[in-house]
Amino acid sequence: MPSSFEEAARRVLTRADELATYTEAPGQITRPVATRAMEGARAQVREWMHAARLETRVDAIGNLAGRRGDARLVVGSHLDSVADAGRYDGVLGILVGLEVAERLDHRLEVVAFADEDGLRFQSIYLGSRSFVGELTPQELAVRDVNGVTLREAIAGEPAPPLYDPRTEAYLEVHIEQGPVLEAEGIALGVVTAIAGQSRFNLAFNGHAGHAGTTPMHLRRDAAAAAAEFVLAAERIALDEPGLVATVGELNVPRGAVNVIPGRADVTLDIRHQDDAVRERATARLQAETEEITQRRAVPVTWSTISHQDATLCTPALVERVAEAVAATGVKPRRLPSGAGHDTVTLARMTDTAMLFVRCAGGISHHPDESVTEADVALAIEAATRFVCSI
Ligand SMILES: [Zn+2]
Repeated sequence: MPSSFEEAARRVLTRADELATYTEAPGQITRPVATRAMEGARAQVREWMHAARLETRVDAIGNLAGRRGDARLVVGSHLDSVADAGRYDGVLGILVGLEVAERLDHRLEVVAFADEDGLRFQSIYLGSRSFVGELTPQELAVRDVNGVTLREAIAGEPAPPLYDPRTEAYLEVHIEQGPVLEAEGIALGVVTAIAGQSRFNLAFNGHAGHAGTTPMHLRRDAAAAAAEFVLAAERIALDEPGLVATVGELNVPRGAVNVIPGRADVTLDIRHQDDAVRERATARLQAETEEITQRRAVPVTWSTISHQDATLCTPALVERVAEAVAATGVKPRRLPSGAGHDTVTLARMTDTAMLFVRCAGGISHHPDESVTEADVALAIEAATRFVCSI
């Protein structure tokens, strides 16, 4: 007789507390790839996998896969963390997967990815990309702050990949990491897509001058141009439903209280679940920036940091997740994910679905990250129903 979903949820929360003790920084949760903290957490999860009647394998980077029989369905998320993290980002998806494996006899695989947050190598999805066999020699040569390469940090060649090409579906359960579900009073979210994102560095080049002697009409103030840019980005984002645009860094190098800024450096992060909308908004912002910089005689250079296209969850599986959520008594709320997830990698290989769990205040990547036992119980029930529907 399987335990109730409430009992299972209690165990998930207890286990999340236990995993939180595996850290490289005492007093925090800081668990980068290929460290003792990761090794300890992985050994613990491996024990729980064996208890759930799963056969385990580990690859060189530290991905852990617990498999039952001829599994075609993978349930997973990541075991690493950012610096001074919360205890549910990633971990929740692994622990919910374990509860599903515990209560069902289905052939399935639960995976704990070794690196999603990219803390050590400033990378993305190293774990899941290694899992599917996508890591390149250039990535293996990337160094951490101590000069250690990824190749040196891991236990050997990352081949062969653990991923089984016969896999038919991937499910990831994850905290929302945003405030939408809480604001609407809904426990679970049905993820439709993971937003695409573009990131840029912009340098506004004006002319430094004396703050007292240069009249306003003769100035070429780089910070004033950058300020107009920030507001243009905000206005354009407000104009496009679902678009988010953020200027997270705003610097005046060598600035001083009595000097007109000769240079301003800013970053732009722009995201939407529809690539065409993101590209249109970016083009519009570039045109407006051109107008601002011409009028002010403050030329700007754009350099691209990264582009990532949106990832659509598989529509048929999105519907199955919605049905599983509805069966728990929660009204299915479909929403895109603004944050990236391992699902992005798996979506290149197989059909994918994601289930979000409400988190308090939308807080994530922070020690205050929190979920309720009742919501986790609903997530376990929905994930169980989803797996049974496959
Ligand atoms: Zn995560």
